[in-house]
Amino acid sequence: MAGKTYDVAVVGAGCFGAWTAHRLQQAGQKVLLVDAYGPANSRASSGGESRIIRAGYGPDELYSRWARQALPAWQSLLARAGQRLFYPTGVLWLAREHDPYNQQNQAVFERLGVPYERLSRSELERRYPQFDFADVAWGLLELDSGVLMARRAVQAVVEEAAKHAVEYRSAWVKPPRGPGRLASISMQPEGEAHAGTFVFACGPWLPKLFPGLLGERIFPTRQEVYFFGPPAGDPRFAPPAMPAWISLGDEVYGLPDLESRGVKVAMDRHGPPFDPDTGVRTVTPEGVEQLRGYVARRFPALKHAPIVETRVCQYENTSNGDFLIDRHPDFENVWLVGGGSGHGFKHGPSVGEYVCARLIQGGATEPRFSLASKGTVQHRSVY
Ligand SMILES: Cc1cc2nc3c(=O)[nH]c(=O)nc-3n(C[C@H](O)[C@H](O)[C@H](O)COP(=O)(O)OP(=O)(O)OC[C@H]3O[C@@H](n4cnc5c(N)ncnc54)[C@H](O)[C@@H]3O)c2cc1C
Repeated sequence: MAGKTYDVAVVGAGCFGAWTAHRLQQAGQKVLLVDAYGPANSRASSGGESRIIRAGYGPDELYSRWARQALPAWQSLLARAGQRLFYPTGVLWLAREHDPYNQQNQAVFERLGVPYERLSRSELERRYPQFDFADVAWGLLELDSGVLMARRAVQAVVEEAAKHAVEYRSAWVKPPRGPGRLASISMQPEGEAHAGTFVFACGPWLPKLFPGLLGERIFPTRQEVYFFGPPAGDPRFAPPAMPAWISLGDEVYGLPDLESRGVKVAMDRHGPPFDPDTGVRTVTPEGVEQLRGYVARRFPALKHAPIVETRVCQYENTSNGDFLIDRHPDFENVWLVGGGSGHGFKHGPSVGEYVCARLIQGGATEPRFSLASKGTVQHRSVY
């Protein structure tokens, strides 16, 4: 039986797919958006409570520009949705004495006009007495950056898109058969959809859908996230007293107590390989010990804080952390969009904009997003 016909079918309603569908719809396209488990579901990389939106990317100014373009887009969509899903907590970078990454951050902030403050060690101690800055020499505070409430923000994007010409469907899409021009996708439990173009924005599932092409080019890794309960009635761990913060030297980041869920702390270091469908999503005793130790050192008042919530999510890393946004080499009308690599969320609107422009206007793809640039050995360089 022949299915319906769309201009574009987007597979995957995570952050990348939702924004791509939304932007395409705004550009006048008739769009189908399909997801196997639901927008920002608990297995998706976009699931979970919160994500930092920051401008600092050290030497990788491309992503600083994209983040600055994305922030107002998030704000205006969330305002239209009538939901408070962005918290302008500020983002504090904890810098070491010799810290080329944060020096580059500062230079980029100057070039792009990102509002920031450079804080000395004594100023950090005065403003943020809840931190122990033992190994920190100075800091950079991004003033208008902050935190997006991730799951609900993606759901808001899908709801906005569905109010217009995006049709949302819950189904699992079978891997397409090629080569040549793809006419349709088959879905489970049932259905077929025809479209002029297909976008597979399937995050950590991309290697499963395209094992030959991406099985060794996207590396889903297991990441543990912890929420620590602040002392009763203590305002020091919630905004405005506490910003989101990043200590690149420790490969650790944290978010203040937002919506009373607790102080979020996680390692940014890549964990072991992980299956997004079947991977066990309970934290390990080693992870608990590691994070407890870190929190006790960094925040002495949280030394005995209870862990009030945990999550296990996965990053969907490319070899170096650059996104993958390119045409499938075997299909002239299939695009691969993913490789968010633990930092993609904030860029959703910019990814959507970029994919929409490539599909409608064409033009050259950014070499850093190309399939050709994706290696089969992990060597992370984008943080
Ligand atoms: C713990 C953690 C912390 C992070 N912190 C930050 C942060 O602070 N700031 C930041 O900017 N980024 C952060 N990131 C990264 C960011 O969240 C991800 O890069 C981004 O959410 C990836 O979105 P996506 O749409 O590519 O993938 P996903 O959200 O995984 O979406 C893919 C979707 O495709 C669907 N799908 C897959 N296969 C099929 C199929 N065959 N048929 C139908 N549907 C299918 C899935 O159900 C899923 O919903 C973090 C990630 C993690 C895990």
